[in-house]
Amino acid sequence: MSNKIVVKFGGSNLKDSQDYSRLAGIVKSYNQPLVIVVSAYFGLTNRIIAALEKAPENRQAIEIFIDDLYKLKATLVKENIHSETQRKNALSELNERIDKLHQLLKSIHFIGEIPDFLYDQVLSVGEKLNSLLISSILKDRDFDCEEALPEDIGLYTDGLFGLSSTNFEKSAEVVKENLKNDSIYVVPGFYGISDEGKITLFGRGGSDYTAASIARCIGAQSVDVWKDVRGFLSADPKIVENTNPIKLLSYDEAAELAYFGARILHPETVSPIKPLKIPLRIMDVENFEDEIIPATVINGHTKQHAEIIKSITYSDDFGILRLHGAGVGARPGILAEATHRLEEEKVNIKSVITSQTSINILLSKTDLEKAFRSMTKSPLKSVNKISRKEDISVIAAVGDGLYHEPGVMAKILGAIASKNINLQTIVMGASAVSAYLIVAQDDRNAAVRTIHESLFEKKEAVGSL
Ligand code: ASP
Ligand code: MG
Repeated sequence: MSNKIVVKFGGSNLKDSQDYSRLAGIVKSYNQPLVIVVSAYFGLTNRIIAALEKAPENRQAIEIFIDDLYKLKATLVKENIHSETQRKNALSELNERIDKLHQLLKSIHFIGEIPDFLYDQVLSVGEKLNSLLISSILKDRDFDCEEALPEDIGLYTDGLFGLSSTNFEKSAEVVKENLKNDSIYVVPGFYGISDEGKITLFGRGGSDYTAASIARCIGAQSVDVWKDVRGFLSADPKIVENTNPIKLLSYDEAAELAYFGARILHPETVSPIKPLKIPLRIMDVENFEDEIIPATVINGHTKQHAEIIKSITYSDDFGILRLHGAGVGARPGILAEATHRLEEEKVNIKSVITSQTSINILLSKTDLEKAFRSMTKSPLKSVNKISRKEDISVIAAVGDGLYHEPGVMAKILGAIASKNINLQTIVMGASAVSAYLIVAQDDRNAAVRTIHESLFEKKEAVGSL
């Protein structure tokens, strides 16, 4: 095992100028070699997307955006870098990257459309500005620190634009070799490179996945993800008042929570580190004094506890595509044809539930229209009607042991019934640690609250270390 910890700071920790000194304070507290992975400044990725999408038609929007970016960087440098030379160097290097972004946006304006490879390249600049800025700030404070770009250290992907995965066979050794010094490396998250050397993104929120990927390549001690929340909780605190913190989660529990909407981690984050049993620790930036104390630890040690269920989560990003037809559940080849059409459209299937007379395909809401068109463009064998449903929420109950303990689901269903909430679908058994329910979106908050109340009311902290 390496002597390094991979530490990830996201946009939620980098919202204003003072956040950068707090970051330096945290790095100091670690007092050991680190690989720091950073995402873009808070909200910057969304602003880049907005400018990028206007770029083909609107030259003015590019100029306004680039101007703002120069100003933002100048302020951050002025307020965080003290030595004159460091400041000058940082500014000229940052300006170089902003100039390049400017050129890219202008070329998109001239082409009049956004090719996939340029989309990914443009978006990665948000992260690259932060890695440069943060490594300059740390150098200014005398840390032995260097910036390490994915293209320079050999973080290779499968080459899929917009939603790639790391190619560990190709990356592991070279990344390890390139990050071998006992110093502090700062890596921009969110992307890696294809075999052809093109930048490919890991999907929105993908810096978490970068951190986990690097941890796997170097065999890190842990991956520490700094957030502005109290770690994983028993429910979303925006909906439920009395949430409990969760001290310990298994990899699968964390993956299911992320999949079903817990907005703490990129859903793929645990997959690179699970085989090596590298712990992932969620750190609460608001509670940082001077010690490194995790809020939630995700590792291979599953521990069941009295409540079984550790957290209730929800996602509104589900829609249902329903294929109706007598006997669709009994004839071979229908689902194969449907999924083939979706694959052609690059639509990801989140879940499939079948019965004798209908096949229900759960997709992201944003894909529903495209998926509907692909199903209706030509007849599908045995299917006589295709419908869509969007006003739904998926609520998941996650906890290891869910299926071994009688009565847990009964409690959940009882709670839903007691509030007269109409349950549209319930799915159990697809994973050993989660079950999920579908309700109307309007019922979502009431359903989450009543389930939480029935499971956790008057209980102390969930899970123990
Ligand atoms: N900045 C990127 C995003 O907003 C990646 C990340 O935050 O991890 O999606
Ligand atoms: Mg993020």
